[in-house]
Amino acid sequence: MRLLIMGAPGAGKGTQAVGIAEHYGIPAISTGDIFRANVRQGTELGRRVSAIMAAGDYVPDELTERIVADRLDRDDAAAGWLLDGFPRTLHQVEALEKYLADHSVGLDAVICLDVDPEDLIVRLLGRAEVEGRADDDEGTIRHRMDVYLESTRPLLDAYEGRGLLVRVDGNGTVEEVGARIVAAVDAFVA
Ligand code: ADP
Repeated sequence: MRLLIMGAPGAGKGTQAVGIAEHYGIPAISTGDIFRANVRQGTELGRRVSAIMAAGDYVPDELTERIVADRLDRDDAAAGWLLDGFPRTLHQVEALEKYLADHSVGLDAVICLDVDPEDLIVRLLGRAEVEGRADDDEGTIRHRMDVYLESTRPLLDAYEGRGLLVRVDGNGTVEEVGARIVAAVDAFVA
């Protein structure tokens, strides 16, 4: 199974990605997590991306695409994966297409988590208090939302046009939303 999970910042992608991946026995691969781990560990990649992330901007496409391709090449991803936070730009969509074509595989579904816009900011501000993420202050949150609307939301139309988009209501408890996603994906790929 090869899946993408998309949605606005705060839609719950990361939380749901872990549960869905476990359900299907595939790794959940989060570009945000990969970048944050590198920042924490002080690697060269981490030094390159930390200011970009803290400002709520996107890491350059070529760099992000290389990181994802390297991760997908690992053994545990041979039978499938769930990508969380990638692709985020049309350039990244094309890079992923090329990777898939080169490996003679395809996407099974693109999950889109829909959450009421007013709830997103509230959720992100709540997470800022709990996790203390550098990109979770209110100004940066609003900027990330703008960047998402401008650069990433259009990708949903692209995947809808390819008949891959599975929209799921992301309002509710983690368990409710998780069950909804699995039911929707199972019905879609059946
Ligand atoms: P959220 O789920 O709240 O949107 P993520 O953890 O997915 O946050 O991403 C955090 C940050 O990591 C982004 O704001 C961006 O700076 C960087 N990032 C993650 N994925 C990508 C990507 N595919 N392209 C560019 N930057 C990315």
